Amino acid sequence: MFDVCSISLKELRGVGKKRFELYHRLGIETAYALLRFYPRSYLDFSRPVLISQAQIGEYAALRVLIAKKQRPFAVRKGMTIMKAQAIDSSGKITIVIYNNRFAFEKLVEGKEYLLYGKVGGNLLQREINSPVCLSADENCGMQPVYSLTEGLTSNMVITNMKEALLLFDRENAEDPLPAALREEHELMTLGEALHAIHFPKNQTQRQRAHRRLVFEELLSWQMGLAMIKEQKKLRTNVLLREENLTPFLQALPFTLTDAQKKVIDECIVDCKKGVPMNRLVQGDVGSGKTMVAAALIYLICKSGYQAALMAPTEVLALQHYETLKKLFTPLGLHVSSLTGSMNRREKDFVKWQLAAGKVDLAVGTHALVQDSTSFASLGLVITDEQHRFGVAQREKLSEKGNHPHTMVMSATPIPRTLALILYGDLDISFIHALPAGRQKIATYAIGSSIRGRALKYIRDALDRGRQAYIVCPNIEDSERGSIGAISYAKALKKGPFRDYTVGILHSKMNAKDKNDIMFAFKRGEIQLLVSTTVIEVGVDVPNAVIMMIENAELFGLSQLHQLRGRVGRGKHASTCILVSSFASPENKVRLKTLCETSDGFAIAEKDLQLRGPGDFFGRRQHGLPEFKIADIGHDIQILECTRSLAADIIVSDPNLSRPENAGMAFLVHDLFHSEYSVL
Ligand code: ADP
Ligand code: MG
Repeated sequence: MFDVCSISLKELRGVGKKRFELYHRLGIETAYALLRFYPRSYLDFSRPVLISQAQIGEYAALRVLIAKKQRPFAVRKGMTIMKAQAIDSSGKITIVIYNNRFAFEKLVEGKEYLLYGKVGGNLLQREINSPVCLSADENCGMQPVYSLTEGLTSNMVITNMKEALLLFDRENAEDPLPAALREEHELMTLGEALHAIHFPKNQTQRQRAHRRLVFEELLSWQMGLAMIKEQKKLRTNVLLREENLTPFLQALPFTLTDAQKKVIDECIVDCKKGVPMNRLVQGDVGSGKTMVAAALIYLICKSGYQAALMAPTEVLALQHYETLKKLFTPLGLHVSSLTGSMNRREKDFVKWQLAAGKVDLAVGTHALVQDSTSFASLGLVITDEQHRFGVAQREKLSEKGNHPHTMVMSATPIPRTLALILYGDLDISFIHALPAGRQKIATYAIGSSIRGRALKYIRDALDRGRQAYIVCPNIEDSERGSIGAISYAKALKKGPFRDYTVGILHSKMNAKDKNDIMFAFKRGEIQLLVSTTVIEVGVDVPNAVIMMIENAELFGLSQLHQLRGRVGRGKHASTCILVSSFASPENKVRLKTLCETSDGFAIAEKDLQLRGPGDFFGRRQHGLPEFKIADIGHDIQILECTRSLAADIIVSDPNLSRPENAGMAFLVHDLFHSEYSVL
């Protein structure tokens, strides 16, 4: 595409073996890669302030005249201080330079300079320490600052960058974004943008360059997702031959909600198309996603195929296994489980059964994706609580079948617009209602001073035969004053709950101990479960009615909502108590949101607003490409715009094989190459 892509950095002036090695460490080997190495920030010389306005203690850009250079003086061995007096129309300032003779000697009395540095001293005698000094007629606007590695200086990068830009200009290559598209969206050309992102004349120019590059990157990403989606539209031989759900519905202890039925219908339509289904099912906590999955499993298995359901934890996998085994056995389906904690013999037996087609449904953890597991006729793959699995693991399970249908059930609702964007390679269904008769979970935020009353409230519930959870953010006590689950459980056992059975569950326990505790709690043998967030996802114990969360201020809103969703799953009225000792005003607003809102989608929206994108996405970033300049949180508008644009482009040219789209094909490949060999 671009000739600069093939020009090694070694061909640039000043790049020898050593400097090449430094660039290599940053992953930069060609002139093109260098151009795509965007500044981390800028020294803004474009708006110098008057000396009298420079705030002491702040960084500032100044335009000054060197009035007088003083003689350098050595304060001690190896430390020379050099000073120069500088003035502008408003006052004077002393430039202080340590040791750097070269920088000092560049300053000439009577000449004008632009300085950038931290202003010190006092109002009578301002100083600027080791400033960056540029000749005033250099007209540099903003100076780029790069994330460097030791041995590589900004000046080296700037010099090399200028040469790379010249090479790029000389090449006069076509812009990867077609002119019509650029015009419609008011985007700079790539050449303009590269110049302006590295050496902007002012903020406006920088912003325009930034917008063009973000647009280009997100468009590439969305086109990549759209292409993956297209490519998954392969023919599949997995076809629904059985559509009669009646026996399944009759076996359920409740009737499905309309919302559940709607999603099941969407899946049925998908599974009859002759191309593999690729669907994300989003629903609030407790909306009954498992039964949607079950309905589909039933139909697929009755059509003569096998199904696999993969959960992120052993506890969840076994829970699904128990539920589905109970439901499906009377319906004539054979259900097995495959998890990491089974012994070798048990595993081998199940694997043999799967390969021989003697099992209809396998429920398990990532043991299911191991190389030694194979299926006789895998027709449906379902993964629960999707964000814990990478795309790669999902794909790996799918590869065990002949283009099976896939369904992904999300753990935490995320705002609709975001879901559409983030999971662009999937179709999305929303379950927007909870089963009828679900009671609102009364939620209270309290200070730790009345914790005693809350514990009494829990004891009363246990006395009525109910169960409760207490969740702590950490396993051990932390210095910052939060209570650790272990010591808290001990204290409760000795004190307020000495007459009750108290269990403890945390992530450092081994899988078997965790399972034992969880199932003892399910069977009602444990009344109060003190836990870390390991119970966050999916656990279903309808008899548990109180969820108390310690140091609630340390959790994200969506996470709190998810925890709260562990109660209110049966016929009993349920309560969630959020305890916090150091709630700042801002935290109070957050916790109040939770008390007032029970809609997970609304909470997710709020969480995103309050915490900002970085924290909201956190671990969900997995599976996303590494962006050089775009920020999914901040650049939502551009994301939305590029999403529909990408869809249009890919519909008209699915492989970006038309000559006018060659540049865009190059961009997509550049962004995705490591993740998807197909693109
Ligand atoms: P989630 O969507 O959070 O995974 P689950 O699938 O675990 O929710 O369902 C939560 C609870 O609601 C389970 O106990 C399940 O049996 C029950 N449930 C599911 N669908 C219905 C329904 N239509 N009516 C009543 N209860 C239901
Ligand atoms: Mg679930």
